[in-house]
Amino acid sequence: MASEARVGEEEPKQLPVINEHKTLLNSEALYQYILETSVYPREPEAMKELRHITVKHPRCFMAAAADQLQFMSMLLKLINARKTLEIGVFTGSSLLATALALPEDGKVLAIDINRKYFDLGFPVFQKTGVAHKIDFREGLALSILDEILEKEEHSGSFDFAFVDADKINYINYHERVLKLVRMGGVIGYDNTLWGGFVVVPPGEPIPEELLKIKPEPITEEFLKIKDLTVEFNKFLAADPRVEICHLSIADGFTLCRRIH
Ligand code: SAM
Ligand code: CA
Repeated sequence: MASEARVGEEEPKQLPVINEHKTLLNSEALYQYILETSVYPREPEAMKELRHITVKHPRCFMAAAADQLQFMSMLLKLINARKTLEIGVFTGSSLLATALALPEDGKVLAIDINRKYFDLGFPVFQKTGVAHKIDFREGLALSILDEILEKEEHSGSFDFAFVDADKINYINYHERVLKLVRMGGVIGYDNTLWGGFVVVPPGEPIPEELLKIKPEPITEEFLKIKDLTVEFNKFLAADPRVEICHLSIADGFTLCRRIH
């Protein structure tokens, strides 16, 4: 599988596929069908180029899958997004999909604790003429969000926010991002089904079918994030400030529309 490629390995002969495993669909063949029929033929060249770069990174499993990015691009256009926020950039797959979907004068404020990841993908942004849309900030997302809220005139000004950094802070991000997104604006939280494990109650044995999805050892940290994701999903379902839509695309993607 392309997602197992390691730094220093030969360039794959075929176009690399990132996260072909990242679906909760029961049929791998059906997922491939979606990618090959509807996603890859329409994928911008720059996205393919960034995929070539990202797949060589040992942590390429972190990048969002191509079908989810196609969905996000469509969503941004449907809501006429001009100004967006991204928390968790990695090499820039979701950031590039966003930058390509925004108008020429659009802006993305992008936050990641590690600029080195983004530096790998940045030449593609430059080559494709969207680098001017990116305002990259390196650091802890919570501190940067607090700084932005305190010192900069961004409150209620973002059309969209994509949250895809450390899952343990999703609830903390929610409070801050809600203040930054405009009324009627959308926040997308990624990985909200956590590989399907959200159905497993704390301390209960993992069902066979889930062990097949995740053959690697299940760590304490993984289960802790699972429990926090369950809490977060419950919290969002009861939050009167947003309307929600919990999609089973990729690893689970929850959209929140700010209504208060
Ligand atoms: N959205 C990216 C994409 O589609 O390719 C993937 C993001 S990756 C899953 C998560 C990123 O969040 C990593 O690049 C990591 O450095 C960053 N991150 C983790 N914890 C963070 C924190 N507390 N503040 C800012 N960034 C953080
Ligand atoms: Ca993700």
